[in-house]
Amino acid sequence: MEAERLGFPAYVVGGYVRDKLLGRATKDVDIVCIGSGIKLANAVANQLLPIPKVAVYRRFGTAMFKHRGVEFEFVGARKESYRFDSRKPIVENGTLEDDQNRRDFTINALAVSLNEDNFGEIIDPFNGILHLENKVLKTPLEPGKTFSDDPLRMMRAIRFATQLNFDIDPRTLKAIATFKERIKIVSWERITIELDKILKCRKPSIGFKLLFNTGLLKIIFPEMAALQGVEVRKGKAHKDNFYHTLEVLDNLCRKSKNIWLRWSAVLHDIAKPPTKRFDKKQGWTFHGHDAVGAAMVPKIFARFRLPMDHKMKYVQKMVRLHLRPISLTKENITDSAIRRLLFDAGEDIDDLMQLCEADITSKNPRKVARYLENYEIVRQKLKEVEERDHLRNWEPPISGDIIMQTFGIEPSRAVGIIKKAIREAILEGDIHNDYNEAYAFMLKKGEELSLEVKDNSLKK
Ligand code: ATP
Ligand code: MG
Repeated sequence: MEAERLGFPAYVVGGYVRDKLLGRATKDVDIVCIGSGIKLANAVANQLLPIPKVAVYRRFGTAMFKHRGVEFEFVGARKESYRFDSRKPIVENGTLEDDQNRRDFTINALAVSLNEDNFGEIIDPFNGILHLENKVLKTPLEPGKTFSDDPLRMMRAIRFATQLNFDIDPRTLKAIATFKERIKIVSWERITIELDKILKCRKPSIGFKLLFNTGLLKIIFPEMAALQGVEVRKGKAHKDNFYHTLEVLDNLCRKSKNIWLRWSAVLHDIAKPPTKRFDKKQGWTFHGHDAVGAAMVPKIFARFRLPMDHKMKYVQKMVRLHLRPISLTKENITDSAIRRLLFDAGEDIDDLMQLCEADITSKNPRKVARYLENYEIVRQKLKEVEERDHLRNWEPPISGDIIMQTFGIEPSRAVGIIKKAIREAILEGDIHNDYNEAYAFMLKKGEELSLEVKDNSLKK
């Protein structure tokens, strides 16, 4: 970017400066000018080749264009004041200083001059550079005011702490705990954007621990906060399922970038609190937490405005099936149990195995090694059965249409009964995964249901 002769001083500010100084990959460049951001954007665009198309957002007084893959956003310096019930400020034109004051953290308030007399000079009114070196997040102004004005900044603080592996300054952290209730004026969409960014980090547990310790988690995600704690009865304690979940999540993040598998790790034990029982013989149990957890997923996804489509179904499936591979590590596992898991997990079987391996959080290295070895055996068996029976994305060879046509019947309960019987017979190994065997089996079932064959033409 060249400096400009238009009469308004301009500066690069915020995330771009921070990331450059940290040596992080940078995406978009934000430019603040003392004057009209829209006019400046147009003037700069006209000096570039090829001349980029400028998108103007008059309502916000901003304009942006893309040049060589980088997005440049221009805005006039502004001064903000807030009302109690909204995180949308009243905006007026301001000085560079006003503009730096309204920023969330000192490390995000750095400005670099683009003007001829002091080109490249860093304007750092709040010691942002020192805080970058000390790896600390601190608000430029009084933290309580900063967070109360715009409570989204609380989520941003925790997100930056996780992304950059920074500490949050103690006074700033305390203000988050104090003003946590203010998060309620932030939209779920914005909260979820920050959660998503936390989940994409190398070690998301950092963020979730901060959310828990500040009390934010209990407000935005009470089901997860409820996982925390250990109860002891008759000398028997269960593990702390919150810290266990975070370990599983961090383990998984070392192996997989799949965001929906990461959500599955967050949610795999989510129903442990509501299913917890104490039994004199067995001690603590969480029977059914897989099924109950799967049933909780849609409500949680809806609250976080996450997609309610196949992605939600995928997470639900992971939660529902997360105990199944463990049961396959027992001795004398039948092929039919393996076939059933392959059928239920379908193409997501490898993801499920990854989740289960991440679920091993024993502190005893010998146990960890043994569990991993057991899963290796399960993987081997899955592979053998899969190669033989091709059950991934499998559809039974006889469809409902064939059943209806053969017996000349409409869609009905009988069709469902026969279809299920064929599927079970194949999964159980009573008949092979073969059209003719399944066809014969269908005729037998039809006879049991007193159905008459009306059409023989589909026999192969
Ligand atoms: P990233 O792009 O990685 O999310 P960023 O710091 O660039 O991080 P943006 O949301 O792109 O974040 O915002 C750009 C700059 O605008 C920030 O660096 C910060 O100075 C300022 N900013 C953004 N959101 C807020 C906010 N809620 N309160 C105060 N300042 C903010
Ligand atoms: Mg940015």
